[in-house]
Amino acid sequence: MSGGLDSMLAVKVLLDQSIEVAGITFQTPFFGPEGAQKAADQLGISLRVVDIGAIHLEMLKNPQYGYGSQMNPCIDCHSLMLRTAGRIMDKEGFDLLSTGEVLGQRPMSQRKDALRAVEKLSGYGGYILRPLSARLLPETIPEREGKVDRRRLLDIHGRSRKRQMALASHYSIQEYPSPGGGCILTKAGFADRLRDLLATQENVGLHEVELLKWGRHLRLPGGKRLVVGRVHRDNLKLQELAREEDLLLRVKGVPGPTGLMAAKAGEQEVELASHIVAAYSDVETGKEATVEVSGKEDRKITIAVRAKEEFRELLI
Ligand code: SF4
Repeated sequence: MSGGLDSMLAVKVLLDQSIEVAGITFQTPFFGPEGAQKAADQLGISLRVVDIGAIHLEMLKNPQYGYGSQMNPCIDCHSLMLRTAGRIMDKEGFDLLSTGEVLGQRPMSQRKDALRAVEKLSGYGGYILRPLSARLLPETIPEREGKVDRRRLLDIHGRSRKRQMALASHYSIQEYPSPGGGCILTKAGFADRLRDLLATQENVGLHEVELLKWGRHLRLPGGKRLVVGRVHRDNLKLQELAREEDLLLRVKGVPGPTGLMAAKAGEQEVELASHIVAAYSDVETGKEATVEVSGKEDRKITIAVRAKEEFRELLI
């Protein structure tokens, strides 16, 4: 369950047949369970949240079916979710997997061949039911076995939302998010940063990916990455995410951003980072500022503040 209207309607169609439904949703740095939880509460079904962050990130580095318009590997991502859900199905004796996918709704992941690819890659072909489009798709095993009545499944196709809106009103579903374009991996700015990270750093882990979501990112001439908070929330998050070996930079005594840089930076890099953090602070260009650098050893660097435009080309 994503928590979108389609996933809610798929549940309703099954509940209408008195089929017991347990919700499952997934957690990674790129999407979380909040929407699904709201939807499950409204539908009155249970929801389990499975953290697939680490395995999803490994898949993301080299997806078998490639990426969509940005860094979204939708076919591999769906397959991974269904494989994970399938293992739970096997273990706990459920009869089928169901999704809210609608044939032809999304260009990459909901074409007929893409749905087939997902089935194959997940290893659960034959058990994946799409109640909203099932009558346009081959019969699944649970349908053949009479566990689901195919005649009461639907034949929705394409990008129009008219039938879904009508069904929402039929089922008295009032609260649902407007259809989004996918997770953060589909957003151009985030995708650019992620592409850059994967291309320039080995052993990218969840920590590095989490950092991408906060502040502005700059690459210093030696290759080091500096993250500079844009708003207070970024600053707090950077302080929270800083590891023991990282450096945190702040201008002393004036409002301004927090900067975070991986440690083992040379003196010149720390000085440049101090200039950048000061340039984004409230200190006027040309005035003196003291930047507090905290890490394993705290220190202070006093500089004359430069204009932030000077550092624009370092932005990722
Ligand atoms: S939009 Fe994001 S969450 Fe949805 S299938 Fe694609 S990669 Fe996965």
